[in-house]
Amino acid sequence: MNKICFLDKDGTLVDNSQYPEIIPSDKLLKNDVIEGLQYLQKQGYKLIIVSNQSWVSKGKHTIERTKQIFESLITQLKEYNIHIEEYYFCPHLRSMHCECKKPNNKLILEALKKYKGDPKKSLIIGDMDRDIIAGKRSGIKTVLVQTGCGKKFLDCDPDHIITNLNAIGEVIDEQNTKEHNKF
Ligand SMILES: [Zn+2]
Repeated sequence: MNKICFLDKDGTLVDNSQYPEIIPSDKLLKNDVIEGLQYLQKQGYKLIIVSNQSWVSKGKHTIERTKQIFESLITQLKEYNIHIEEYYFCPHLRSMHCECKKPNNKLILEALKKYKGDPKKSLIIGDMDRDIIAGKRSGIKTVLVQTGCGKKFLDCDPDHIITNLNAIGEVIDEQNTKEHNKF
C-alpha cells in the first residue's frame, strides 16, 4: 500500500489572487510549495493533483488548454526534481451534480484504487472547504493551507492548518512522532 498526497491546484500550487479577472492557470507559487513537495516526496508520498476546473463548462478554457496548463505545471516542477504521478480534474459545473467535483470524492477514490493508496497514510492539501470535505469523505487526513483562499476557510475543521505547502513537514513530523509513540 502506498502513501498518497492529493494536491489541490488553484490557490494551493498556483496563484489565484487575480481571480476572477484572471483565471488561475500555471503560475506556480514557487516560494510556497517547492520545499514542501520535495519533502513529501522524500517521505515516500506519491503526489497527485485533484482539481475542479469548471472553467471548461463555463467556456473559458477548452479541455485541451486545461491539459496544457497541467502539463506546464508538471514540467515546471520537474526542474525541481518533483514528480507528479497524475492529475485529475472535474470539468463540470456545480449545477451538473457530478460525482467528481470536490467536495465529492470520486476522483480521489479512483486514484486511491489505481495507485493502491492506504487512506490511513494518505492526505489532501487544499485551500478551500471543498478540499477538506472531499478528504474527510475519503477517509484521509486533511490539511488546509493559508495560501489562495485558505484564510477564508479556517473554520472548516481540517485536521491541520498550515501557512503554506512548505510547512507540511510540521504535520508529517508530528504524525510520525505519534505513530512512533504507539509502540
Ligand atoms: Zn465533475
